[in-house]
Amino acid sequence: MKQGNIGVTTENIFPVIKKFLYSDHEIFLREIVSNAVDATQKLKTLAGKGEFQGEMGELKVSVSFDKEAKTITVSDHGIGMTADEIEKYINQIAFSGANDFLDKYKDDATQIIGHFGLGFYSSFMVSDRVDIITKSYKDEPAVKWSCDGSPAFTLEEVDKADRGTDIVMHISEDCEEFLDKWKLEGLLKKYCHFLAVPVAFGKKTKWDEEQKKSVETDEDEIINSVEPLWTKKPSDLKDEDYKNFYRHLYPMADEPLFWIHLNVDYPFNLTGILYFPKIKNQLDIQRNKIQLYCNQVYVTDQVEGIVPEFLTLLHGVIDSPDIPLNVSRSYLQSDSNVKKISQYITKKVADRLNGIFKNERKEFEEKWDDISIFIHYGMLSDEQFYDKAKQFFLFKDTDGKYFTLDEYHTLVESAQKNKDDQLVYLYAQDPESQYTYIEAAKNKGYSVLLMQGQLDTPLINMLEQKLEKTTFSRVDADVVERLIVKDNTTGNELGKEDSEKLQNAFKEQLPEIDKTEFQVQTAALGTEQLPVIITQGEYMRRMKEMARMNPGMAFYGEMPDSYNLVLNTDNEIVKACLQETDTDKIKQLIDIALLQNGMLKGEALTKFVKRSVSMIK
Ligand code: ADP
Repeated sequence: MKQGNIGVTTENIFPVIKKFLYSDHEIFLREIVSNAVDATQKLKTLAGKGEFQGEMGELKVSVSFDKEAKTITVSDHGIGMTADEIEKYINQIAFSGANDFLDKYKDDATQIIGHFGLGFYSSFMVSDRVDIITKSYKDEPAVKWSCDGSPAFTLEEVDKADRGTDIVMHISEDCEEFLDKWKLEGLLKKYCHFLAVPVAFGKKTKWDEEQKKSVETDEDEIINSVEPLWTKKPSDLKDEDYKNFYRHLYPMADEPLFWIHLNVDYPFNLTGILYFPKIKNQLDIQRNKIQLYCNQVYVTDQVEGIVPEFLTLLHGVIDSPDIPLNVSRSYLQSDSNVKKISQYITKKVADRLNGIFKNERKEFEEKWDDISIFIHYGMLSDEQFYDKAKQFFLFKDTDGKYFTLDEYHTLVESAQKNKDDQLVYLYAQDPESQYTYIEAAKNKGYSVLLMQGQLDTPLINMLEQKLEKTTFSRVDADVVERLIVKDNTTGNELGKEDSEKLQNAFKEQLPEIDKTEFQVQTAALGTEQLPVIITQGEYMRRMKEMARMNPGMAFYGEMPDSYNLVLNTDNEIVKACLQETDTDKIKQLIDIALLQNGMLKGEALTKFVKRSVSMIK
């Protein structure tokens, strides 16, 4: 038997591994199983080249555990290792030198591990002792290596009939949670779901009629029975394949709207399938659904830093050996490969959307409401995406018609330009409660957009910056005559004195509403218009909406809501109020306007109803 020290000089290497190098202990299983898969793949490669000519046998990787003995064993029938290879690959940890390692480690160990890989040693995170029992495909004796977590190891010849490697982990007391069927099965399903070699764990069960319970059969349960669709050629796949795969990944989700099959091999390697889920308005819960793989080994579903933030709304898988693993987020973001990958994905997503828009506009419009929040988010957060998205971004009007930015510009250019040569885009946020205003605007020949999305307020702010000479105004921001001011001439306005008299008469009857202010104004709005109209100025309202999303603007959020109460001096009833002040009539007029805006509530509403009834009598 040979004894020796592992080629890292410090006594502290294992505590380091245990404590710092991996934050998640559970990944030991991923590392050990993927080593077993690699060894199996290598054997297949050798056989393919004719360098291995023996019986391959059944090439699966088996994972088992023994609760009594407190061990977890991962076995493969891959290439195995000779004593020399153990010396080379296991004992001399694959660093240029221990001192180099320690030097670098002082700064940030997590950065190093991703590059050098301490895969096998991660087993010590959960083990007091690890044995490797292995027989190489070369005609050499089987050996057993054993190490108890100190740098000291033993290496001896043993009997082992078949080719391959067993890694036996003697689980430490504080990690006994891993000696559990459900725990292990869960981890294998998470990390090993799409490995290229079958991974067996436990036995298949079947229902036994006599015993009235399910019993184990002799057949192995294979964890990874579904093929990783992203490794196939897009031309070999049908829509149904993509949908099935999506269903497999996200059994609870609605059907995806579109998907993109990613496939690059230069200047970096990346494959994957990204799906557009139905998002609607649940911006937050949909996060973290993209799964990141490295050569079919699951790594994480926290892909922030790897894909632009808005793309984390997508679902699906990305597989790239070029993304450094186990490294800190800040390191990831500064990695030039990762930057390129992120830009590539953004471009692909935008190109795909543009393609659908161009070739299948009808379908694109049908799905717009479901993908719009994603596109808005992308336009707001990513300049590169905005530049592409302005081709296929759509406005929707209150009649359900869709327009690109250019189309809409052309549509409203002649009718909605104000005296300052600015185009005014009108929009509604709630077609129900803003119905009267929408109708009034339409009757005047204006178009009204529907802006109901969660991100529409910041989007409007951004579009005002980006689009030339364009402002947005909600339909109830002013009375329709003044929404788009075309010249300075005013209509048949009241004289100053009369106007003030009328304003005061109404001011006195205004109800107290919590956190709400009214400015009373007069305007000649024509005999057709209602006597009293409530409007809400665009600027303050929008600032308050922004404040709700943006803690830095809390100041605006604290301010009261400010409304205009506009008295239509062309209206006969209003005119009459100038002659004699009938307080009940004035109250009634104000209440009707409040009611129309959903602002008449509680006691005030009851009073209004009673007053109305008594007026009918
Ligand atoms: P990495 O896999 O990143 O090279 P590891 O520490 O996980 O680093 O493994 C070191 C080496 O040990 C591998 O490159 C491989 O040569 C060898 N090895 C590990 N596990 C096995 C196995 N199950 N069968 C054969 N060789 C193995």
